[in-house]
Amino acid sequence: MKRRTVGVIGAGASGMMAAITAARQGARVILLESNDRVGKKILATGNGKCNLGNRKMGEDCYYGGSIPFIMDRLKEFGTEDAITFFKGLGLMIKEKNGYLYPACEQASAVLDVLRMELKEAGIEVVCGYKAAGITAQAKGSGFVVTDGSGEYVFDNVIIACGGRAAPATGSDGSGYRLAGKLGHGLVETVPALVQLRCKETYFKAVAGVRAEADILLYSSGRILAKERGELQLTEYGISGIPVFQLSRIAAYLLKEQKEVEIHINLLPDYDENALEQLYQSRLMLQGGRTVEEFFTGMLNKKIMQLFCRLAGLHPSQPMEQADERAVRKVFSLCGDWKVTVTSTNPYENAQVCAGGVPLDEITERMESKKVPGVYFAGEILDVDGKCGGYNLQWAWTSGFLAGKYAGGREDYRSV
Ligand SMILES: Cc1cc2nc3c(=O)[nH]c(=O)nc-3n(C[C@H](O)[C@H](O)[C@H](O)COP(=O)(O)OP(=O)(O)OC[C@H]3O[C@@H](n4cnc5c(N)ncnc54)[C@H](O)[C@@H]3O)c2cc1C
Repeated sequence: MKRRTVGVIGAGASGMMAAITAARQGARVILLESNDRVGKKILATGNGKCNLGNRKMGEDCYYGGSIPFIMDRLKEFGTEDAITFFKGLGLMIKEKNGYLYPACEQASAVLDVLRMELKEAGIEVVCGYKAAGITAQAKGSGFVVTDGSGEYVFDNVIIACGGRAAPATGSDGSGYRLAGKLGHGLVETVPALVQLRCKETYFKAVAGVRAEADILLYSSGRILAKERGELQLTEYGISGIPVFQLSRIAAYLLKEQKEVEIHINLLPDYDENALEQLYQSRLMLQGGRTVEEFFTGMLNKKIMQLFCRLAGLHPSQPMEQADERAVRKVFSLCGDWKVTVTSTNPYENAQVCAGGVPLDEITERMESKKVPGVYFAGEILDVDGKCGGYNLQWAWTSGFLAGKYAGGREDYRSV
């Protein structure tokens, strides 16, 4: 069988996986990267620890054009395959409640083993090369990739340029332009796994506070999503993992000019009855104190001060003189604090980019239906995962499959 030449555009997680897999198939591989080094984004993942996958896997872990398509690809190369792959590169892996990390807790170790494998597999890495165009030559004669000054000719090309998230790491959306020139469409993109900015002007007073909470996303009076976890309050709004998980839903609603309201329950284990009992018991025990003293020890002090202010209570006011409706309002704010989202933070702050090249424009082999011989891998596709290692898993999965099929033989497994 003729040795194929494969060009991989983009040396992020998916591009490196694709390049290694294609080379293991026997292909001659050139990896083109616009940055002056490969895998810049990997270093920033998981707060520098790289959450590279997750043993808990299901349909609710992903968003995108077709969940069955995503799940089927994950069956072909899933969490255990990624573990086997990385162990094969010498990376020891540890698990915390299903979350997978390099045992040394250094994202740089993940990048290092990939870099070593690129070298050992004989892959030519060209940095500082920003692909600007891909042209199909006469039928069956491959593709010319150009950056405007230098050209490469390949039998097959894999586009693994990422999306628009964290553009400082290289993913500036130029992959969409390459795909667009080849006739591909684009599912509108939004920043995801990102902080939410709110209309209320009082956030400065509670910035820095962290609290376990239920976070509910409402639009037009309907609840659309719910997450529990550590809420983080910022000067301009809300952050933290449960907020990140909801952010892509909020982003698309805002794009459609729809209202987005977040209801925060800071006492998630208290239902209405339990909240009433709490009110009554505190009144019995602490009813002779000032307002500030009455609420001390219930929740974070800064939050209680804010809620008292919103309810019209003065901290030094004796509880006996406090308006009962105002005191009850503080309790109801604890269980249902409503804030209005005005925008997400921009792509610069986002961990991923939702939207991308539509999944119905590629085959199960990650090959373009519009231009056979061109393959896609990673975040450039209309796939985004929740926090927890799911985005890197998609990069490994799609990179593996694109490399496997672009590289040649079909009987390859990652052992
Ligand atoms: C701060 C942060 C933390 C994250 N933490 C996690 C985590 O812990 N777990 C997890 O699962 N996910 C995490 N993610 C998401 C995850 O890193 C990405 O989903 C994943 O790296 C995407 O891989 P990719 O290969 O598709 O794209 P990218 O990693 O974006 O790589 C694309 C590459 O293509 C290059 N490129 C772009 N255009 C061109 C061009 N025209 N020519 C040549 N090269 C080009 C870019 O320079 C880049 O190197 C995090 C993301 C961020 C920003």
